[in-house]
Amino acid sequence: MTGRIAIIGAGPAGLIAAERLAEQGFGVDVYERMPSVARKFLMAGRGGLNLTHSEPLEPFLDRYGAQRDWLGPAIRAFAPSDLIAWCEGLGQAVFTGSSGRVFPKSMKASPLLRAWLARLDALGVSIHLRHAWRGFDEAGRFLMAGPDGQERVLEADAVILALGGASWPRLGSRGEWTGWLAARGVAITPFAPANAGFDARWSCVMRERFAGAPLKAARFSHEGRSVRGEAMIAAYGLEGGAIYALSAGLRDAIGRDGAAVLTLDLAPDMSEAALAARLKAARPGQSLSSTLRKQARLSPLSAALVREAGEAPRTPLELAARIKALPLTLHAMQGLDRAISSAGGVARESVDGRFMLKALPGVFAAGEMLDWEAPTGGYLLQASFASGAAAARGAAAWLDRS
Ligand SMILES: Cc1cc2nc3c(=O)[nH]c(=O)nc-3n(C[C@H](O)[C@H](O)[C@H](O)COP(=O)(O)OP(=O)(O)OC[C@H]3O[C@@H](n4cnc5c(N)ncnc54)[C@H](O)[C@@H]3O)c2cc1C
Repeated sequence: MTGRIAIIGAGPAGLIAAERLAEQGFGVDVYERMPSVARKFLMAGRGGLNLTHSEPLEPFLDRYGAQRDWLGPAIRAFAPSDLIAWCEGLGQAVFTGSSGRVFPKSMKASPLLRAWLARLDALGVSIHLRHAWRGFDEAGRFLMAGPDGQERVLEADAVILALGGASWPRLGSRGEWTGWLAARGVAITPFAPANAGFDARWSCVMRERFAGAPLKAARFSHEGRSVRGEAMIAAYGLEGGAIYALSAGLRDAIGRDGAAVLTLDLAPDMSEAALAARLKAARPGQSLSSTLRKQARLSPLSAALVREAGEAPRTPLELAARIKALPLTLHAMQGLDRAISSAGGVARESVDGRFMLKALPGVFAAGEMLDWEAPTGGYLLQASFASGAAAARGAAAWLDRS
């Protein structure tokens, strides 16, 4: 194979593209603005690197919502089983948690990244740190700035952009490139936070006593979507996996209506009738706190949430209904700075079936910089890897044709 390919961005999408292309004999240069590679990948490993998910492929693909059929071919070609085999091939055995999420046994990203960088080195991939893409010159060529700050024209036969989304900008992905691509005819959907917490107007008691406390085994519902899982009370509101799973709909509802009402079922294992029967057994004159604790078996946090929703109903039937469908108004979403991922980026209609930008022949895009979103659970890394591998196939095919 002949041709030199430049990859801009050394996150999972860029590095897997580098590996695939170097394996085929292409010369590969990876440019990364930060002093070290894959900082977001390493950050993802801090809380346990959730690489992918073990559920069957059809429900797996549903997690990408409207972008399912766009990402589907790439994910079928680099499926969760391929990502697991790749990870194990680098000496990192995996395990599947009770939720179906797949993690390396070490839980961390660093041993995997170390082995990966050694493999890339052995394949001859050159990684240029502290090299930032700064836009295009008047002739439409890529301008790169190295550590000396001097801008130089990028020499390459094809370019893969793997610049990430716009969350946690201090890790390197800042989304400043949207204007440069838009000026060259690439459609961009504005970035928005995804997988982030929401503001709730807690009372002082709630904030001071329960910030940091987990709300376990509740059911969370919004506009017909329902998730059983865990959330975390934050001083500002609510965060955690179950909230992230509903975050796209909640964000859109807040954008549309100014607020979103989340419904919590605090006793998901009991029917409303069974719960009402238990509540009926309360002694006359028993306090609400004691009834919620003893009859409904609610945790102190769940009981506080019931009180937080306003004056508690008097009859067992009404109280049971409140516990099974507790409304919680959310007023705003946390910003991009603290979001796990971002929605928005390069719009689907600007990219062809090989992930090449239609307006810029020979330039490909992959990873979170593309306009898709998914909940946490390993879906973000899976799509980043799969689209990186697909862009590599696209770039190889494009170079072969000439
Ligand atoms: C706290 C946290 C926890 C997470 N946990 C998980 C998890 O457990 N499971 C999961 O699936 N996902 C998780 N994610 C999301 C996941 O890490 C990202 O979706 C994934 O890293 C995206 O990969 P990427 O290669 O597209 O972009 P990135 O990883 O963002 O990499 C893009 C790279 O491009 C570089 N770059 C950007 N602009 C330029 C430029 N102009 N010039 C040169 N270089 C540039 C950046 O510095 C960066 O290194 C987590 C994210 C966060 C923030």
